Amino acid sequence: MSDNRFYSLPELPYAYNALEPFISEAQLRLHHDKHHAAYVNGANAIFERLDKTRQAGTDVDMKATLKELSFQAGGHILHHLFWKNLAPANKAGKEPGGILADNLKKEFGSFERFKKEFSAAAVSAEGSGWAALARCGMTGRLLIMQIEKHNVNVYPHIRIIMVLDVWEHAYYLDYKNERPRYVEAFWNNVNWDEVNQRLEVLLK
Ligand code: MN
Repeated sequence: MSDNRFYSLPELPYAYNALEPFISEAQLRLHHDKHHAAYVNGANAIFERLDKTRQAGTDVDMKATLKELSFQAGGHILHHLFWKNLAPANKAGKEPGGILADNLKKEFGSFERFKKEFSAAAVSAEGSGWAALARCGMTGRLLIMQIEKHNVNVYPHIRIIMVLDVWEHAYYLDYKNERPRYVEAFWNNVNWDEVNQRLEVLLK
């Protein structure tokens, strides 16, 4: 993220059709250009409102504002992570390597067991949400989060290293109501190098 005081919509690190058949060009354009953009704009509007009320010395409804900011900023940050932990299938690699592979084996017993648990978290997320792989800095353990909306069930101060968006807006054009097929296809397009690097940074 830049040093600007507002969020900005990042460009995708690949072409709009680069994730096919996992995500079609039409689906990715809609998801990135409209849905992700809406969270960037939504969060920035709240930051602007806070700046203005601070300058004017006027009051703001803190409860409503912070609830909305958590949702909008969460939406932006999770999408920011999501695009970068995806890659075209020919660059994605089937399995993680490096320190990530070691840590997954240590926590879950095997990569297959991790996949099974993460997929189950993604498929069973109620309504709109995410599955996330994260690391607890206190124990060093890898954890799976099942995030509702963009901000519910998130563990405070635990670092997320991989996410999968299971909002209907992420897959409905391509898969209709068949979320399990979308989750299964995800595994062909994980940028394991990126996920491994995110973990390496936390271990330094
Ligand atoms: Mn989304």
